[in-house]
Parts: sequence; structure tokens; C-alpha cells
Amino acid sequence: MNNSVSQDSNQGPPPPAAWLNRYAELGRAFFTELPAQGMAKPVWVARSMALADQLGWPADWWQRADWQALEVLSGNAVWPGMRTLATVYSGHQFGSWAGQLGDGRALLLGEVDTTAGPMELQLKGAGLTPYSRMGDGRAVLRSSIREFLCSEAIAALGIPTTRALALTASALPVRRESLETAAVVTRVAPSFIRFGHFEHFAHTGQHAELRQLADFFISHHAPECLAAANPYAALLERVVRQTAELMADWQAVGFCHGVMNTDNMSMLGLTLDYGPFGFMDGFDPGHVCNHSDHQGRYAYAAQPNIGFWNLHALAQALLPLMDEVDKDGAPLLAALDVYKIAFPAALMQRMRAKLGLLTEQDADRALIDDWLKLMAGVRADFTLSFRRLSSLTQGDDPAKLRDLFIDQAALAQWLQRYRDRLNAEQSEDGPRSLRMRAVNPAVVLRNHLAEGAIRAAQAGDFSETERLLAVLQKPFIEPERASDAALPPDWAQTLEVSCSS
Ligand code: AMP
Ligand code: MG
Repeated sequence: MNNSVSQDSNQGPPPPAAWLNRYAELGRAFFTELPAQGMAKPVWVARSMALADQLGWPADWWQRADWQALEVLSGNAVWPGMRTLATVYSGHQFGSWAGQLGDGRALLLGEVDTTAGPMELQLKGAGLTPYSRMGDGRAVLRSSIREFLCSEAIAALGIPTTRALALTASALPVRRESLETAAVVTRVAPSFIRFGHFEHFAHTGQHAELRQLADFFISHHAPECLAAANPYAALLERVVRQTAELMADWQAVGFCHGVMNTDNMSMLGLTLDYGPFGFMDGFDPGHVCNHSDHQGRYAYAAQPNIGFWNLHALAQALLPLMDEVDKDGAPLLAALDVYKIAFPAALMQRMRAKLGLLTEQDADRALIDDWLKLMAGVRADFTLSFRRLSSLTQGDDPAKLRDLFIDQAALAQWLQRYRDRLNAEQSEDGPRSLRMRAVNPAVVLRNHLAEGAIRAAQAGDFSETERLLAVLQKPFIEPERASDAALPPDWAQTLEVSCSS
């Protein structure tokens, strides 16, 4: 199945011009090299031209005869120089040590050299690997559409994430609760290394490989750590800070990841592995988006603490790298401690921005908490509450905002406090509204929007996926179609999203 794309076309050389395989140079302990299992007669579902552009690829990359991108990105062919491999990792799942996991259905293709540095390309759903365990190595169209759209939506919100370049599909049947069909997402990131990669080598006692991985990561992705007294503690602190920022980013847009296991945590602080994620509609701090998460371990309000818990697991994995002087792990504990300051600071900064505040005042925390309490009390729509607050002007009746709340007196009381706070910094309505609209999205990937695209795609019509992608790529602009930014329809409440993907 895996044919190399021919290079003797007169349309120029196949991509990418510079192809790297640095992960492959790590050695046998880190991966298994194997070909993809392709899909017969693949079709394009969607592509992110914005991302292709960032890779420096021409606009016609996907339809050039000499590139055969559809075949390559469906696992049916390889570009010259590609080394396809599945990496091994372990991890903690739902709070318990799960042992060895690994890329059970993902395949690293190598790195494309771009002006922003090397970018790894990875196929998700391209067949069995030695790490597939009970799985079939496949991903279904349904979950792949969700991953594709949300990767690009989160990126457009300015939140660090793995990206999605393309989505291809075929009629290949895949068994989940019912019979579905296969799809392959091409994911892109500077690195897909997870906390779980480090945990793997620590828990199996492969300390030389653990050090090799840490040195590899530092030299390729975190070179500034080399200058630190303890580079491994500096690496941890870097991940601590990035994770704190990421958790604040998620909380600020009402995003729930759903499966924050340590094998789904990125060493680059990226949103990684889109499964049963969800953007909240009505605000409920206890919201659990993953129907399989019976304990609510990964509820919205729990995410920042779970991020911290996961960082402890990473610190534990780095402990064997401490030398004689630091073998009690003091520098790692100090790095972990940074989270306690970095996360609240990052969240406050985002919340102040969401309220359009330019200065910092002691009472801001209470103002923000009370706003969130007001929202939670009536499950006011998370996205719309902030978006409509952004349009508030002096002396205006905030009718649209009032529609979202039942206790009008409580809302009016809070709005008066907010107005007083704005006046205290001589806030001007016009510029503030513009600022707020640039951080409070009009459109997020609500479950029912994804569901609309999925149902159409399952019937062979991919136009809704493409349309939605275009809307989600401009989340701070009021969409043409009002329903994209409206309250969810009643049927959305019955949608259930589970780990099945
Ligand atoms: P997840 O819960 O999706 O993060 O996956 C946890 C582990 O299960 C990872 O090692 C995945 O590669 C693996 N996995 C999930 N689904 C499949 C599948 N359909 N086939 C093979 N491996 C899978
Ligand atoms: Mg995963």
C-alpha cells in the first residue's frame, strides 16, 4: 500500500522541500517504525488552508498531481524522506497508573521545516501499531470532524494547540457502539511529546533513555533551559508556566478537555488529543463534558487542579534526573510551586481582559467571582454572557444581556458595581467594547454545531464542515448566520459525548 510518490514529475519536487526525522534519531527504545495502514478510495473532507499557508505550502498543495497529498495523508503513500513511526509512552489515566500506552492509532511522519521552525506531521487513525492494545488503530469520521474543527477553532481563539491540516475519509467500516466509517486527521505541532513519554522511561527504570529524552526535548524545544543551574528543573518550570497559561486559557473560554490524563498532556503546553471535549453552553462550574467520566474528575472547575496534579506526575518522572545534591527533588518542588502563583495570575489577567478592565484593583477578584456566580446561578450561556457584556454602553438598556438572566435585580446590582468599577478607571465605552469583543468570542464549537457537520458528513455532504471551519477561524466576528452564535437548540441538551472515538 505504501508507495513512495514519484519524484520525476515536471510540476516540481514533492513536498516538503526539507524533511526532518529527528525523533527517529532517538533510537529503538522510543518508537516502533512501521508503515501506515491506508484507506481505500479516500476522499477529502476538509483542509485548513490557513495552516498549509503557515507551513509555506502553495494554495494548490492538496490537488497537485505530483504531491498526491490525498494518498499520503490517508496513509496510502509516503513522500520521499518520510520515516513513519509510532512512539511509546505511558501515563496516569483517571488518577491511576495505567502502564504502557503509546501511539495506538497515531503515526509520526517526520518534520516539515518551516519559517516558524520544524513542524511534526502526524496521522491519527492510520491503522494498528504495537501500542494499539485492544483498539483497532482507527478513528471514526464523527470524532475526527470534532478534532479537526476544534483544533482549528482553539487555534483561532489564540490558545496553544496541536493543529489540524487535513481530514480525509473512506467507506472503511469501523465498529464502535454502532458501525461507523474511518477517517484520518493530519495533526501538526512542533512536538507531540507528552508528560507520559517521560513517565514511561521513569516508571520502567530506563533512566539513560529518560535523560536522553529530556536532553532531546531541551535542545530542540526548550534550549533556554540549558543556561539554568538545573536544566531539568528549568524544563519543569517551563512546562508548569505553560500549563498554567493553558488552564487559564481553557477556563476563560469555557472549554472542557474531558480526558486530562497525563498521556494527553503536552510538554509544550498545547491542547492535545481532542476526544470528548466540550465548550460549555450554560455555565455550570461542575460541568462534565465526558459522558464516561462518572466521578466528574475532569469537570470544568477541576481542570486547573488536575493540571497541577499532572505536573506532579511529570515532576516525579524527572526525579531520577536529579544529581546527588538535588536528589530530594527540591528544585522540582520549587518549580511546581510556581503554578500556585502563575495560574491565578494568568486567570485574573484573562478575566480582567474579558471585563475590559485596564487597571488592577483589589476588589476585581470579588467583582469577577460575583459575575461568575450570577451566571452559574441561572446557568447563563457562558459565551453569550461575556459577548453581550462586551456591548454594554453607558445609559443603554442591556436588554440582550438581561435575556440571559432570571434574577434581574441581582443582575442590575452587579452591573451597577461593574459600571462604578469602569468609571473608576475612566473607561470609554467604544474602545472597551472593541477590546472585549477581541477576547470574548461570538462563536465557539458548541456540540450541536459539530453535530450538524457530522450528520451532514455522514450523509456524504462535507460542505457544513467546511463552512463551520471558516466561521470558527474568525471567532471574534459576528457570523453571517445568526444561529452559529445563538443559544443552543433544545435537542442539544440530549447530546452525549463519550470516550468512544
Ligand atoms: P485516548 O483516551 O484517546 O487519549 O487514548 C488512550 C490510549 O488508547 C492511547 O494510547 C491511544 O493511542 C489508545 N487508543 C485509543 N483509541 C484507540 C484505537 N481505536 N485504536 C488503537 N489505540 C487506541
Ligand atoms: Mg490520548
